[in-house]
Amino acid sequence: MISSAIGKSWVTDLDELRKLRDLAEEPDFQQEWMEVKRANKRKLAAQIRRTNGVDVSSESMFDCQTKRIHEYKRQLLNVLHVITRYNRIRSNPGLNVAPRTVIFSGKAAPSYTMAKLIIQLVNSVGNVVNSDRRVGDLLKVVFLPNYNVSLGELIFPASDLSEQISTAGTEASGTGNMKFALNGALTIGTLDGANIEIMEEVGRENIFVFGHTADQVNEIKRRGYRPREYYERNPELKEALDMIANGAFSSGDQHLFRPIVESLLGRDTYLLLADYGAYIEAQDHVDQLYLQRHEWVRKSIANTAGMGKFSSDRTIAEYAREIWGIKPEKIDKLDRRELVIQNFSEILRKD
Ligand SMILES: *Cc1c(COP(=O)(O)O)cnc(C)c1O
Repeated sequence: MISSAIGKSWVTDLDELRKLRDLAEEPDFQQEWMEVKRANKRKLAAQIRRTNGVDVSSESMFDCQTKRIHEYKRQLLNVLHVITRYNRIRSNPGLNVAPRTVIFSGKAAPSYTMAKLIIQLVNSVGNVVNSDRRVGDLLKVVFLPNYNVSLGELIFPASDLSEQISTAGTEASGTGNMKFALNGALTIGTLDGANIEIMEEVGRENIFVFGHTADQVNEIKRRGYRPREYYERNPELKEALDMIANGAFSSGDQHLFRPIVESLLGRDTYLLLADYGAYIEAQDHVDQLYLQRHEWVRKSIANTAGMGKFSSDRTIAEYAREIWGIKPEKIDKLDRRELVIQNFSEILRKD
C-alpha cells in the first residue's frame, strides 16, 4: 500500500516514508490504511483462535506488549491496568470504553521464577476476564506463547497500541518499540530508551507519554520510596492488588500470587505503584482517541511516516563515520560479484 502511494524507494531509503505525512489527512488514504490494518488484525485473530482458543474481535483495539518478561519492563503494570479496566466494566456495564484485546507475548529466562509467575498471572487474569459474560468484546486478554520473529511478523502489523512502559532509566534502547511504530501502532510509553527518540521523530502529539522521568525516579528513591502509600491512597489500585492477593484469579488460592503482591507492596524496585495513576490516566486518553477513529488513523500514519531515522542503514553509516572512522566505497556490480566470490572462497579455505 505504501509503495503504491509514494513509490518503492523507501525500501532502501527509509527517510522517504516522510512523504506519507501529506497523505495522513486524506480520507481515501486513511480509509485504505484502516482496511490494511483490519486485514492484519484478522490474520492475528485467527492465530489467537488457533493457539489460545479465544475469539477476539478484529474491530477491538489490539493493545500489545511483546518482549522478554522482566520486572523492569513492567508487564505487571499492564496487568494492573487490565484488572482496573475489568473492574470498571463490571461495575458500570454502560461504560463508554473502546473495546480492547490486550495481547502479551514474551519468554522468561529458565530460572527467573518471578517472570514465570507473571506469565501465569496474565493467563489467569485472561481466564477470568475472557469467560465473564458481562464483559463480552469490551475486554479480552491473551498470552501468546513462544514469542519469536515469526510471531512478531504477525503481531507488529496487527497492533494498534504499543506498550513500552519500562521504568524510566532502565531500558538502554529497545527495538520492539521501533517495529511497532514503523507498523503504525501508537506508543504508550515512559521517557525511557528509544521511546524518547521515537517521540522526537513522530511528534509529541502522536504518542502517549506518562510516568516519572529517570531523574524523578532517582529522587523518589533517594527520599525513601514507600509503595504502600500509593496503595492506601488509590482505591482502584488497592482493589486490583487485593484481588490478586485474595485469589480472585487463582480459584481462591491466596498463596500462588503472593510473591507478586509482596514484591509490589514491599520494595517495588521498578516503581510500578508510583506510576500506576499516571498510566491509568494515559490509558483513558488512549480510549478517547480510539473512539475518534479518524484522528487515531491520522496519528497512526504519522507514526509510520516519522520512523525513517530508525533504519539500520542509517545506524551503520553513523557507526562507520563516528566510531570506526571509515568511508563507504562505491563498487560496481561486477566488482561486487568478484568480491563475494573472493570472500566466499577464503571462508571455504579456512574451514
Ligand atoms: C524485537 C524483539 C525483541 C526485543 O524487544 P524489546 O521490546 O526491544 O525488548 C525480543 N524478541 C523478539 C522476538 C523481537 O522480535
